[in-house]
Amino acid sequence: MKSWISVSSDSDFPIQNIPFGVFQTATNEPKVATIIGEKVIDLSALAAHGYLDAVDFDKNVFNSCHINDYMALGKPVTNAIRAAIQSIFNIENTTLQNNETHQAAILHDVSKVELLMPIKVGDYTDFYSSRDHAINVGTMFRDPENALLPNWLHLPVGYHGRASSIIGSGTPIRRPKGQQMPAGADKPVFGASKLLDFELEMAFVIGKSNEMGTSVSTKSAEDHIFGMVIFNDWSARDIQKWEYIPLGPFLAKNFASSISPWVVTLEALSDFKVESPVQEPKVLPYLEFEGNKNYDIRLEVDIVPENGQSKTVSQSNYKYMYWNMCQQLAHHTINGCNMNVGDMLASGTISGPESHEYGSMLELSWRGTKPIAMPDGSERKFINDGDTVVMRGFGQKDGVRIGFGAVSTKVLPAS
Ligand code: MN
Repeated sequence: MKSWISVSSDSDFPIQNIPFGVFQTATNEPKVATIIGEKVIDLSALAAHGYLDAVDFDKNVFNSCHINDYMALGKPVTNAIRAAIQSIFNIENTTLQNNETHQAAILHDVSKVELLMPIKVGDYTDFYSSRDHAINVGTMFRDPENALLPNWLHLPVGYHGRASSIIGSGTPIRRPKGQQMPAGADKPVFGASKLLDFELEMAFVIGKSNEMGTSVSTKSAEDHIFGMVIFNDWSARDIQKWEYIPLGPFLAKNFASSISPWVVTLEALSDFKVESPVQEPKVLPYLEFEGNKNYDIRLEVDIVPENGQSKTVSQSNYKYMYWNMCQQLAHHTINGCNMNVGDMLASGTISGPESHEYGSMLELSWRGTKPIAMPDGSERKFINDGDTVVMRGFGQKDGVRIGFGAVSTKVLPAS
């Protein structure tokens, strides 16, 4: 499949992708969109010009500042719409290709629009599902001999985060302030976090709800998962260390999490499915699954200093996840917890086995004991004011690359 819109070989957005997001221009209200190459496609304009008439749905879902109403149409409809979009932009289809007036109303250069937060997130949950990350953190903070707590291999550990502070790429954050207990001190101090960190994660978005009192099985989970984004779960390690006992993270995590601008559908990612790591001991029946449920998605993190040269500090892969999304959703709902369209469930920090594959500065600098050298001669143990953290991810197979675009966030000084 090839589009009549030109797509460079290193683009995240060939015609095979067709992710969903929200954009606005200086003169237009926010609208739901997709992207091919460098062209943002206004789906409300595409529908208004009759190009999606063959699919029966409420075209008003595209006149929105989020994609929730679109996702709620359900996969039979959204998959038909996605296929219709691919047909319209296929090089063999000349209808819109030969209509420059319509193109002017429908297509926008990505450099000339603003991409907005694509989802109205209702509830947000963060898991802790990378074994290498859990072992690294357990080794640093507790006991190398018993790095994994007894429950870890039996259930996908998670906690309820906060949805209000999930932001889109490009929105800067302020360094958080809070209580810390410095090593050797006998009482806590208050101030700006000194150990601000990123967490390299991916998140999935619920596109189909389940009623309270019912559960989603691993078998039906993919029907409830609309798609995925790259997710930077900002973390203040000094605040976290003091506050997290006994109920887990609180103010160290809820000040900001950043997501990439395009929600990539599970259908677009299907070619990148791979086997999961072997789960031993055997999981309980409700967590068993059939087939490949993991994904080979390459991930990387760059730190870009203010006025400085960027450095790639981590190269990981989603395939390292021990617990897959289907297991996470089955576990989350096994007690009858209801999920709503727009809920976001993040993976937890995704670390691989090699030291360059660690998904946080906590691990990369090994708690600050191994600073990372930057091209300008400075060092990073954690993230400095003025730094921009950029995360990217894509799958690549048989010459087709399906990506997410970047999630880029600048850190401003504490207020
Ligand atoms: Mn996290």
